[in-house]
Amino acid sequence: MRTNEKLHSLGEFGLIRQIQQQAGDAEHLVLGIGDDCAIQQQDSSQELLTSTDLLIEGVHFNRQWIGMEELGRKSVAVNVSDVAAMGGTPKSLFLAVACPAEISVAELEALIAGFLAETAAYGAILAGGDTCRSSGPLMISVTVQGTVPKGKAIRRSGARPGDNIYVSGCLGDSALALEMLQQGRLPDESLLKRHHTPKARVALGQFLSARQLASAMLDVSDGLLADLQHILDASGVGAEIELACLPLSEAFAGELKSAPQLIDLALAGGEDYELLFASSEQNLASTEGIELPLTRIGRICPERELTIRRADRSIYRCARGGYDHFA
Ligand SMILES: [Mg+2]
Repeated sequence: MRTNEKLHSLGEFGLIRQIQQQAGDAEHLVLGIGDDCAIQQQDSSQELLTSTDLLIEGVHFNRQWIGMEELGRKSVAVNVSDVAAMGGTPKSLFLAVACPAEISVAELEALIAGFLAETAAYGAILAGGDTCRSSGPLMISVTVQGTVPKGKAIRRSGARPGDNIYVSGCLGDSALALEMLQQGRLPDESLLKRHHTPKARVALGQFLSARQLASAMLDVSDGLLADLQHILDASGVGAEIELACLPLSEAFAGELKSAPQLIDLALAGGEDYELLFASSEQNLASTEGIELPLTRIGRICPERELTIRRADRSIYRCARGGYDHFA
């Protein structure tokens, strides 16, 4: 690596690409760095999915705003979301915690209680980990392993021109809650819930994988536009998004009335943990057994550009970029 180059000029995804180039290939590795999970060959019928996440106090969370039980739950959900994004089933979680001295035993117990409850909610189990002292902030590292029938994992690279683009649930609630907290305002309970206790869309991912309904998929963690761009880059295509089609909650739509610029939070806010996917299906609004709404928000195009159009077809430019840890 070029040691004199600053991280902010390389960017989060530049750094990942550099590491990816050096990591190399192995026969058992079906898919390495660069998607929501790594895929390893497990046996003749199943593949093993693995993903890992770091949550650092002051970067990912603020203990003044989120309770420890909720933090335990969120640590699981955001990690399991990557298994959902491949269409897999979460099986085992591994938790490593670095604790600053001022954290009490009761606080740690609440963190673990939340972690275990959320893990159980997905039918998975805490299978190992590590604890140590931190001389700085509270740090939580979570690794998840899951399985998927051989060849059924939905990657980022399969989107084709003409595919429709769908997203589950609503966009922007989590980012709006965070923005209100940062401004010293108390968000609506429904917005706070979306920010503090997101849910991984496991059943939907499995549904789409089993029926081979999605040509490419990921979970929205960095913001709709940034994450869609990952699909477009991996697939070598472009997309057109219809601004008027973005699914918004009642609470979000209410805030939007007096502050129209908030629409950028739905486009680029992040931490939605909804599934974003491309599909050749024309109408996926009703999917049997899945209660979560799916909304068609645009389509995949051959030209490698990402365009957002207003209802009158004029081009909308989002003022926010997606989340890059080093930008
Ligand atoms: Mg992801």
